Amino acid sequence: MATDRMEQIVALCKRRGFVFQSSEIYGGLKSCWDYGPLGVELKRNVKDAWWRYMVRGRPDVVGIDCSILMHPKVWETSGHIAGFNDPMVDCKKCKARFRADTLDAQRCPEKPSKKPGECEGELTAPRQFNLMFKTFMGPVEDASAIVYLRPETAQGIFVNFKNVCDTSRMRPPFGIAQQGKSFRNEIVTENFIFRSREFEQMELEFFCPPAEAMPWYEYWRKARLDWFLGLGVRAENLRLRDHAQDELAHYSAACADVEYQFPFGWKELEGIANRTDFDLKRHSEATGKDLAWFDDITRERWIPYVIEPALGVDRAFLAFLCDAWAEDEIDGEARSVLRFHPALAPIKAGIFPLVKKEGLPEIGHAIEKELSREFSVFYDEKGAIGRRYRRQDECGTPWCITVDFQTKDDQTVTVRHRDDCRQERLSIAALAGFIRERCLG
Ligand code: ATP
Repeated sequence: MATDRMEQIVALCKRRGFVFQSSEIYGGLKSCWDYGPLGVELKRNVKDAWWRYMVRGRPDVVGIDCSILMHPKVWETSGHIAGFNDPMVDCKKCKARFRADTLDAQRCPEKPSKKPGECEGELTAPRQFNLMFKTFMGPVEDASAIVYLRPETAQGIFVNFKNVCDTSRMRPPFGIAQQGKSFRNEIVTENFIFRSREFEQMELEFFCPPAEAMPWYEYWRKARLDWFLGLGVRAENLRLRDHAQDELAHYSAACADVEYQFPFGWKELEGIANRTDFDLKRHSEATGKDLAWFDDITRERWIPYVIEPALGVDRAFLAFLCDAWAEDEIDGEARSVLRFHPALAPIKAGIFPLVKKEGLPEIGHAIEKELSREFSVFYDEKGAIGRRYRRQDECGTPWCITVDFQTKDDQTVTVRHRDDCRQERLSIAALAGFIRERCLG
């Protein structure tokens, strides 16, 4: 059942243009994905919803956009060069490589019904594999030119802490947020876009006085769950899992994962950690730059503690998609529907003249022109109206606007709701307000 559901979601993504395999006409590049016309809108809406909630809507958070390539010493200081590793084993028979800590969840490529090693191949002892992608900066390919593709966006924020303090008049408690690509050379990639080697992250580093770190940690745990719930994710598919003491990174005082119940099981969607003063302290020691905060009211100097909610865009995309997808029946006919929150829906409204004549297309195009100033809309005049509705249901479009003969008399249209197929009559002038109000996340 679960595999079926995932297979159907992957097929829908391809069929409707949400996600394609990268370089597909060349046979594809494993674990790399391209977002198609609907996918790119959904992804943008997920990122916008996060940015509105985490940055624009708050006086205590500002944004930043750092480069992917950073000084290689950053990664030495952060501990990534020495410690951003996963344990790896090789099968001596089939030569496949596996993550040693999740062997139970992996399959032998030669005998896909078996776990690694069960194909009678002997597994090597585990050794550490560093997950950072390396490349060279400039024309000389030697050790002095090595740079890394960032494996997280957080370090760009830490190294800019002082710049932001000096220029933005923010004072702790305050946060710096960033969205952008990260790269990890994962030993195994899995579950469609859930784990890939190139992905996007949305991270907030929230700097606060050390004594306030745990209350802020509690605050962000709740705020992050509320964000998903506010965008319509079903409560029964979300949970917070506290890390056990032996799971915590050495610098972390507390950590929890927001987990989502994907068709392939409960998995991490987002991590929320109390990173203490580890990062600022280390960068301060490595550079000799003072990254402490001097509180001119209490006359105290301290290095801020950091609370970090870190979410993967692609994982959030997949969770919203899995949560929204359903199959139901309308008038005895099966339909596939994506019940996205209107804020996330890639297309907000379909605009359909009932027939392709008698001035109805002209009215439809005028509505399209007006609404597209603010929303992504889709005009379609071909085919039976029921078919046009059904197609938009599977794209997740919350409303279909039908222009009919009555429109010519009274400037009203039919608005058909995706979720319950209810129809109501609205004036053309009210449409933008109607959509805007319902899209507020
Ligand atoms: P995992 O345990 O699944 O490898 P992680 O704990 O290493 O994840 P973090 O370093 O906390 O992940 O990164 C923050 C978020 O970035 C994750 O919760 C996830 O949403 C996203 N993320 C991390 N690695 C990947 C990946 N390889 N592909 C897609 N998203 C990822």
